[in-house]
Amino acid sequence: MQLSSIRSFNAASPAPPASKPEVAQEAEFSYNSQDRLVMDPGTTVLKGVEAGPRTERFAMKGTSLQPNADGDYVFEAKDPRSTSAVAFSAAQKTLETFESAFGGKVDWAFRRPQMGVYPDHQDRPMLNAYYSRNDGSVNFFHDTDRVTGTLIQSGSSGEVVSHEVGHAILDGLRPGYLAAWNSDTGGFHESFADSMAILMGTQDEAVVAKVVDQNGGDLSKPSILSGVAEELGRGINNASGTNRTGGDYLRQAVNNFKWADPRTLPERGGPDRLGHEAHDFSRLWTGAFYEVLTQINQEKMDSGVPPQEAIKQTGQEGIKMLANLVREAPKGQFTYRQMAEAFVKSDEKHNAGQQAGRIREVFTNREILSPNLYANAEDAVPASENFRMVQTTLRGSGFGQFEGAVVKTPVDEAFPLGKDVETEKRTRDDIKRLIDAGRILMTNPGQRVETKDLFDAQGRPYVGVVTWENGQMNIERVPIIS
Ligand SMILES: [Zn+2]
Repeated sequence: MQLSSIRSFNAASPAPPASKPEVAQEAEFSYNSQDRLVMDPGTTVLKGVEAGPRTERFAMKGTSLQPNADGDYVFEAKDPRSTSAVAFSAAQKTLETFESAFGGKVDWAFRRPQMGVYPDHQDRPMLNAYYSRNDGSVNFFHDTDRVTGTLIQSGSSGEVVSHEVGHAILDGLRPGYLAAWNSDTGGFHESFADSMAILMGTQDEAVVAKVVDQNGGDLSKPSILSGVAEELGRGINNASGTNRTGGDYLRQAVNNFKWADPRTLPERGGPDRLGHEAHDFSRLWTGAFYEVLTQINQEKMDSGVPPQEAIKQTGQEGIKMLANLVREAPKGQFTYRQMAEAFVKSDEKHNAGQQAGRIREVFTNREILSPNLYANAEDAVPASENFRMVQTTLRGSGFGQFEGAVVKTPVDEAFPLGKDVETEKRTRDDIKRLIDAGRILMTNPGQRVETKDLFDAQGRPYVGVVTWENGQMNIERVPIIS
């Protein structure tokens, strides 16, 4: 990136002409909607597959994967090619599943027809994965589990792949969110991504059979469905030598978190305590959404639907609910409460309000909605088309080397956060917390910043980066999310 602005590499480049497939055909792929700690991969059939492999929406990058003699991409679980096949098939299936519920095409935020899938970067070992709008790609990595000695590859986990493609889907539909600074917007992005990972599991018969073995269909009990990214989570716990996540998973959707103002929380909480960091804070929204799904599933079983069929149907409803929610969701920065109001409204508008009461009740019990919002929730969310940027200058105490920087915050007029001076105050608080947590990257005027520079020593993407324009320091949101 040139010194002037990160916008230079966000700018829409002219789309290359769509390559017409010479031979686009069905091919069978290794597929695992969970990961190898939970189960070995099965297979799935993808349509419109060309050599590479590539489809209309995805292209394998960083490695080329040749099909077997029979034209398929099915490999033994331990075969390194299995990871590439799973990463590719999980990406394609996640998008197809969402678009089918959404009832239309989701354009990528980076305005190129195909997203790159890098199944396993070889250059740096790390237990992570990320979506990058900058590069139009989802990226996966590997490392060795410090305790078990096994190789962990995040690209071999369909859950991790669905999570990153979930980010890309939401970024395509609501690009303003990756310009926002607060915990609620960041937390919702993470929750949406985890929700896609969880919901993909509900459509996988092998997973559902195991879930019913584990909890008989009572989703209020933890299972491989509610645990997200088991293999990666165990690896991270083993690397740190502490049970940071609360179990063999990265995050757990069965939880009892209630609303707490992120401004009052530490950056990182723990298994039973929320933090304001986006992944950490996402557990509250995911817990509430999963509780809604748990109730829907219980109702189906109570009416005689067998558990496996109930989970599959509940998952289909859940995907539809997510798709409906995005239609009615704010376009700029928002609070969880505003998003919960949009959730109720989306059900009233697109689902005849069949689950609206349940959503209100669960999100009220979680203290995301307050009881007096019941009456007017429907009127609280007018339609809106756009968001505008509110400019804040960092002045006061505690900004250190960032003093005087200009920050912009996306605001959707239909989801007001108070007067602009209130938005500015919130933004100063949010940025202060990010500075204290080391999540803003300082740069020098004239410094060339490339995508690889936008990660900290732990491999986490920075939330913001300093850019310079005619001597003025700006802080811009990094459009990369792990
Ligand atoms: Zn994420």
